[in-house]
Amino acid sequence: MTTFIAVLYIISFALFIYGLMGLTGPRTAVRGNWIAAVGMGIAVIATLLTPGMGNGLLIALGVGIGVAVGVPSARKVKMTAMPQMVALFNGVGGGAVALIAWVEFRTTEGYAHEPAYVAIASLFAAIVGSVSFWGSNIAFGKLQELISGRPITLGKLQQPVNALVLIAAIVFAVVIATGGDAELLMIGLLVAAGVLGVVVVLPIGGADMPVVISLLNALTGLSAAAMGLALDNTALIVAGMIVGASGSILTNLMAKAMNRSIPAIVAGGFGGGTAVASSGSGEVRPVRSTSASDTAIQMAYANKVVVVPGYGMAVAQAQHVVREMAKLLEAKGITVAYAIHPVAGRMPGHMNVLLAEADVPYEQLKEMDEINSEFAQTDVALVIGANDVTNPAAETDPGSPIYGMPILKVNHSRSVIVLKRSMSSGFAGIDNELFYDAKTSMLFGDAKSSVGEIVEELKAL
Ligand code: NDP
Repeated sequence: MTTFIAVLYIISFALFIYGLMGLTGPRTAVRGNWIAAVGMGIAVIATLLTPGMGNGLLIALGVGIGVAVGVPSARKVKMTAMPQMVALFNGVGGGAVALIAWVEFRTTEGYAHEPAYVAIASLFAAIVGSVSFWGSNIAFGKLQELISGRPITLGKLQQPVNALVLIAAIVFAVVIATGGDAELLMIGLLVAAGVLGVVVVLPIGGADMPVVISLLNALTGLSAAAMGLALDNTALIVAGMIVGASGSILTNLMAKAMNRSIPAIVAGGFGGGTAVASSGSGEVRPVRSTSASDTAIQMAYANKVVVVPGYGMAVAQAQHVVREMAKLLEAKGITVAYAIHPVAGRMPGHMNVLLAEADVPYEQLKEMDEINSEFAQTDVALVIGANDVTNPAAETDPGSPIYGMPILKVNHSRSVIVLKRSMSSGFAGIDNELFYDAKTSMLFGDAKSSVGEIVEELKAL
């Protein structure tokens, strides 16, 4: 039986890795997801076959509840709510690990007869899992706009409070590891780690959220791997390490792309600190507005148009009509490219996924570094529901919460047309000078309707 279980685990690891390879491109991603899911199914069966697994009925009940909650919510979720769903699912993983560590603490009487490594790995998993659960819930609240997307800080007390709760969690862990077996110690550890998750994520606003979301993802993976070590469960170790390693690589990539330091973000701010620019001082400044027909004419006479998609394109679900517009422009001999900012939208790769869904050729998607040098030769930059990722304050205003973040330099193109519904700010909650630039015209309205009107105008030209 042990050999059979080991073989099942090896098959499941191979499927995880093969599935992950599929996730590297939009065309193979769905298949990759299925392959990894089958791998996870096999790992669950192998675990259930392990002798002494416990109460089968309770396990079946847990699986039943998980399926009943998870499947319909994943099926029903709108594409626009996917980022917060991912944050929530990630948090659930960390929370499960923290609970398993608590169960282990109870069944082993405070790890009394366990080797030291079991206690250390479990306590590490409990802390990191609890940080990840509570931190992910705050991230969910921010993405769902239940909590302000702006930094919520404790001011000067922020770093002392962060340090205090971290030290409290470590002290509880040390007391348990050195023989303390009172349940209150474990509860204290979980609460301190939970508060740490909350106080670390609350001050993170606007542009830094993507880094934190990938970091929480990495933490969930690491906590699962540590728990796997304590439970001697290879499936948990391998799956946890895959998530931990890929999450860490993603965190690093996001931080680099955004010119951020991970320790500075986690410590509660960076560069200009947590200063928040106002989204409006009450002063009304004039902007130039335009119409769909003028936009269509302007683009029809262009040589090169760069589409700059952002979160608003996802909200409007405008990707298909944008593709239709691009085809019409291409038929007129106009070069069309898409400028992809690494944090546009609300999850890493958000714009790539949407545009792939609309069958936009992959070679037309240009990453920030590549497209920024092309804006000077661009006649029209069509900004569709993007805001923060085009905000020049990131380069010019040291007091801005997005200062230092590289942006898409759309203002280098000959003219800029911004499609959005109003003068409202984006996720970072700050005003955008681009909208007041002499080269910029605003086309107000829902992005899908506006692009739909442009399409009709282009057809009529
Ligand atoms: P923003 O959030 O800066 O701006 C989106 C704009 O879209 C809004 O200003 C809004 O203006 C407009 N909009 C909303 N709905 C519609 C609609 N139906 N039609 C037309 N416009 C619409 O988006 P960006 O993509 O520029 O930037 C992403 C931001 O989110 C960054 O601050 C980033 O750090 C953050 N973030 C990114 C994550 C990621 O992983 N990518 C994760 C978490 C946060 P109006 O209301 O006037 O229409």
